[in-house]
Amino acid sequence: MSSSSQEHKSKLLVFTIEECPACGQKTKRAFQVGDFVTRDGGRCPKCGNTTKITMIYAELPPKA
Ligand SMILES: [Zn+2]
Repeated sequence: MSSSSQEHKSKLLVFTIEECPACGQKTKRAFQVGDFVTRDGGRCPKCGNTTKITMIYAELPPKA
């Protein structure tokens, strides 16, 4: 049933989503070691509040 989904062990790109609890602004950035969900993120670019990490996920790199 699996035709061609997991044959390439190329490196995944891992991203961290930081969300501002005050204004809802979401920021996507590259994952950094030590990141985990619910951890404090950086400053919100919109309102300056401290953001929270709400999601960490991996993406396949775009095909070259
Ligand atoms: Zn904000």
